[in-house]
Amino acid sequence: MQIPLVDLKIQYEHIKGEIDSAISAVLAETAFVRSHFVEKFEFEFAAYIGTRHCIGCANGTDAIEILLEAFGIGKGDEAIVPANTFFATAEAVARVGATPVFVDNEPRTYSIDVQRIEEKINSRTKCIIPVHLYGVPCDMDAINVIAKRHCLLVIEDASQAHGALYKGRKVGCLGDAATFSFFPGKNLGAYGDAGGIVVNDEQLAKKCRQIGNHGGLKKYEHDILGRNSRLDGLQASVLSVKLKFLDGWNASRRRLAARYSELLQDSEIGLPFVPPHCESAFHLYVVRVAARDVLLEKLTNAGIGAGIHYPTALPYLAPFRSAAVLDRDYPNALSQMSQILSLPLFPELSEKQLQHVTDIVISHLAASHR
Ligand SMILES: *Cc1c(COP(=O)(O)O)cnc(C)c1O
Repeated sequence: MQIPLVDLKIQYEHIKGEIDSAISAVLAETAFVRSHFVEKFEFEFAAYIGTRHCIGCANGTDAIEILLEAFGIGKGDEAIVPANTFFATAEAVARVGATPVFVDNEPRTYSIDVQRIEEKINSRTKCIIPVHLYGVPCDMDAINVIAKRHCLLVIEDASQAHGALYKGRKVGCLGDAATFSFFPGKNLGAYGDAGGIVVNDEQLAKKCRQIGNHGGLKKYEHDILGRNSRLDGLQASVLSVKLKFLDGWNASRRRLAARYSELLQDSEIGLPFVPPHCESAFHLYVVRVAARDVLLEKLTNAGIGAGIHYPTALPYLAPFRSAAVLDRDYPNALSQMSQILSLPLFPELSEKQLQHVTDIVISHLAASHR
């Protein structure tokens, strides 16, 4: 039985009728860039998250970059970033000329260790960028307290957590601003690259919009130096259709994650942890196992698409690795990167498929002890 890590085909089959007619509507109007389809999705997504504005852009990496620029963060500034996240979080910081300053992860959620943020703050620090990794909300109350004490901005990178809840509120409305990626494999994914920024402040929203649209709000208006990073009409129309299904899909992900944990609870595997008062969006189901590479090979040979998120913690990657970085600086990130394993998870994963995965995992572990 072949089981991919994420199955986008089966999802498309389920919603084909609505998607195809949404795409046809855009084609009929040739409304490819800056159209009412984009405005409609921006309005819907802001309402869904609970912010006043959503500004669509070309991808989730641009979203972070544009937002940092709109906040005036750049050369000489520092941004606090988790050691374990997708490359783009720190890449965007470096792209605006600022320096990402990494904080090790907390062992149970793999997210930024809130206890270790303050030791990295100095007079150059401008913001904290918590990442709701794998769909699990960060401890936002604690992060906001630290930010307030040091007059820092809080920018949520919510690219893996569309619809996740922290104390009953959606992630994305818990800091000064937030960014989302709508990359196809994300919980809310377009059919190509897409991203968005959500903010409450009207001036900030305007600034983001100008930056992403050649420095102006209207055609041939160029008040500042900007760039071209826009959400397009086709992607917006796909996202409007898919947004209606998001909560249902997330509920499926949570149910499947609970089922995985039930079947794996007696094994030696470290299971995902969701802190109290949080509802994870379960973008990924990440377990921890000592002899990870052998198990990964076993799963791969059996046709199962397991993954590693992420194979190398950011401080150890070439663009960020400084001569001064020591293994003891990020002990959790370092030990976890050789042990974490993401099992297949997508809303349409069947009980049979899920059991097939856990059967292989459990029998492999049993055999390796013989
Ligand atoms: C996917 C992702 C991004 C980048 O999004 P793109 O749309 O691929 O540019 C940024 N941060 C995190 C945490 C992500 O998972």
